[in-house]
Amino acid sequence: MQNSIGGYVVLLQNTHLCREDMFYKDIPGYDEIKKQLIYSVNSGRLSHAQLFAGVNGSGALALALAHARYIHCHRRGPEDACGKCPSCHKYNAMVHPDLHFIYPVAKKKGSFSEENDSSEENRGVEGTRSIEFIDAWRKSLQTFRGFISYEEWMEKAGLSEKRGMIYTADAVEIIRNLAYKSVEGSFNILIIWLPEFFQEKTSNRLLKSLEEPPEKTIFLLVSHNRESLLTTILSRCQSINIPAMTPAQTREVLIKQLQISGEEAATLAMLAEGDFSLARKLYENTGVTGEFFKAFRDWMRFCFKPDYNPNPSQPLKVPVIVQITEFFKGLPPEGQKQFLIYGQKMLRNSFVYPANNGELVKAGKDEQEFARNFNRFMTPEALYEIAKTFEEAIYWLTRNGSPLMIFTSLTLTLMEKFKQPIKK
Ligand SMILES: [Zn+2]
Repeated sequence: MQNSIGGYVVLLQNTHLCREDMFYKDIPGYDEIKKQLIYSVNSGRLSHAQLFAGVNGSGALALALAHARYIHCHRRGPEDACGKCPSCHKYNAMVHPDLHFIYPVAKKKGSFSEENDSSEENRGVEGTRSIEFIDAWRKSLQTFRGFISYEEWMEKAGLSEKRGMIYTADAVEIIRNLAYKSVEGSFNILIIWLPEFFQEKTSNRLLKSLEEPPEKTIFLLVSHNRESLLTTILSRCQSINIPAMTPAQTREVLIKQLQISGEEAATLAMLAEGDFSLARKLYENTGVTGEFFKAFRDWMRFCFKPDYNPNPSQPLKVPVIVQITEFFKGLPPEGQKQFLIYGQKMLRNSFVYPANNGELVKAGKDEQEFARNFNRFMTPEALYEIAKTFEEAIYWLTRNGSPLMIFTSLTLTLMEKFKQPIKK
C-alpha cells in the first residue's frame, strides 16, 4: 500500500509546463464559437464587453485567452494568432502589458490588506488585489493551459481553505489603469474571471465602466454562473454561451496536458463526464485509475465472499478488507471521495452493460470485463440500490463525516445486500 501513496506524490509533480499554447487551435471543438470570435475581430465588429458564459469545467477561460491573444496579435491569420510576433511571444509567458486580469482571491494571514481592512471606512476600498497573486496566476494558466477550475485556482494560490472574492479595491485600481493608453497602441483587454465573486460594490463600479468604457478597452468576462450576475451587467455584455466539454474534447485536453495515451485519457474523460478538472484529479490521485480499479474490484469481491483471496496460491496473511481499508485511509480526503465516485461509475457501467452490449461502456478493458461479470450476478434493482448507498456515502463524506466509519458502514451494507439478489 506504500506504493499507492508514493505514486500519488510523484504523479502530483508530473504536471507539464508548456508555454507555447493557448491558441484557438489548442482548444478542441467549439468550432462555431471560434469562427464567430474570429469574424468579430476581422470584421471590426468587436464588442467592447463580451461575456463567456460556461459551466465550471468548460473551455470558457481558454477561449477568452485565445481570443485576447488573437485580438492582440500583430499578424493574425484567418484561423489563429501567428505565434511569432512580439505580442504572441509575450502571451506565451502571459506577460503582455495590455492584458489585465481580475480573479477571485482571498486575504492571506498577516498581509497588508488584512491589517487595514478592519476599519469601517476602509471597507470596500481596501482589499486583496489580484495582482498580489499574479505569479501564481500566470503559472496556473501556463500549467493548465487556461483549463482551470475555481477550486484548482484557489489551491494553486495557496488559498484552498478560504472563500474567494473579487474586492472592490481590485476592480477600482484596474479600471483606473485602463484609462491609460495601451502600451502597444492597440486595445487594453481586461479579463474578469468569475465576476460572480464580486463584492457587491464591485459590480456597481464595473457597471459604470461598462456604460462608459475607456477608449480602446475590451472587457472579457468569464463566468461559470451567469444567473448570479446582475441583469444590468448582462445587458451591457454580448453573451457567448460556452457549452460544457464533451468527453471527447476533454480527452484531447488531457492527452496534451498529461501526455498520456488516448485510451487512458478517454477512460479518465469518461469517468469525469467531460469535467477536465475532475479528470485531472482522478489522474493525480490514482495514476490513471489502475489502483482505483484494483482496490474497487477486490473490495467488491470481498463483499461477495469475505474469505476472498486475490492470490489463491498463497495463504492470506492480512485479510483483504484490512488491505483495502488501508488503501482507502492512505488516500487524501479528495481522493477518498473520488474513489467512491469511481465506484459509483463502475456500478453505473454494470447497470447499462446489457443495453450497450459492452460497446458503449467507454471504460478500460479490465473495467469492461468487471462490468460484464458484475452485471451477470446482479439484478438491475440490486445495482440501483447499491449505487444509492454509494451516493449516500459520498454525501456524508462531503459533510465531513468520518471517512473510516463511512467506509466500514458501506462495506457492511454491501455485504448484507450481496447476500440476497444474485441472478440465476
Ligand atoms: Zn502574433
